[in-house]
Amino acid sequence: MRKIIHLDMDCFYAAVEMRERPELAGQPVAVGGGARRGVVTTCNYEARKFGVHSAMPGFQAKERCPQLVFLPVRFDLYRAESAKIRRILRDVTPLVEPLSLDEAYLDVSGLDRYAWDIAKEIRKRIFEETRLTASAGIAPNKMLAKIASDWRKPNGQFAITPDQIEAFMRDLPVRKIWGVGPKSAEKFNQRGIQTCGDLQQFTQAELVQQHGKWGSELYRLCRGKDDRPVEPNQVRKSLSNESTFSDNLTTLEECQAAMEVLVKELEEDLRVKASDRHVYKAFVKVKFADFTRTTRECICEKPSLETYQTLLLEARKRSPQPIRLLGSGVRFVEDRVTPSSPQQWLELE
Ligand SMILES: [Mg+2]
Repeated sequence: MRKIIHLDMDCFYAAVEMRERPELAGQPVAVGGGARRGVVTTCNYEARKFGVHSAMPGFQAKERCPQLVFLPVRFDLYRAESAKIRRILRDVTPLVEPLSLDEAYLDVSGLDRYAWDIAKEIRKRIFEETRLTASAGIAPNKMLAKIASDWRKPNGQFAITPDQIEAFMRDLPVRKIWGVGPKSAEKFNQRGIQTCGDLQQFTQAELVQQHGKWGSELYRLCRGKDDRPVEPNQVRKSLSNESTFSDNLTTLEECQAAMEVLVKELEEDLRVKASDRHVYKAFVKVKFADFTRTTRECICEKPSLETYQTLLLEARKRSPQPIRLLGSGVRFVEDRVTPSSPQQWLELE
């Protein structure tokens, strides 16, 4: 049985900004696109009380919360903090899989201590060294650990033990299953399937019939079973991000502002997760209001913001519809395959 910790910093970008500017204590703060009509990337809990959330257009956030302090993103600063945090995590175990600047999985199965205590110590050390708070989820697998880290946010931790999984999964909304997005969740709900318990009523054969290959994975995931290992050196074919907007984007200006934030995030992700890889393509994903989608890509070793804005323009020509989702990404030259976990290294040696 594995012991996995999912560590998640609390509203990371906003928390770093607030630490840097003590005069902002108690005020609603959002961090986002620097452009006039940017999109919120992260906001603090004070702002969330007003209904402000990430991926919300800046003007709408200001409408909901007129006193909102809207700050431009400063990735250099967040990256430096992230590096400190990652060093703390790697002190505990080399089995650290970063998901983004502010999130990571740790496999602590091999450590002869309670995962609960390890998580507590990590959070304490992060706070001592950075004055930032983190939340943690502890569980026998990645999916459950990630769900659990949300449960006692901010500055808390929650564990799901093996004997609790069955009861826990029964009432868990299907949306929480790894890989189920808002759209699939909506489809499930339309069929009267709200919880993982509802989904468990189907046989594996039925799920495969309905969802193809994904069906058998779904059969396991809705029972809280997830075998994906923590992968410290993931070999990726591509790296991308995306944002679904609570209000569809209609003007070119809005789309460009949103793309600017996505590309900045992508560049950060590249530095964190794939600094050793060679890019050969850049692509842009667009989903329109009628759910049709399109991708535009070009061969490019060093894509810039302009590369993405050009791809966006081309993609946008394909439909007059407003845009509900934008994404940016790169594809990598396929290198020699390197083992993705220490276990595999051992097998090779
Ligand atoms: Mg976070």
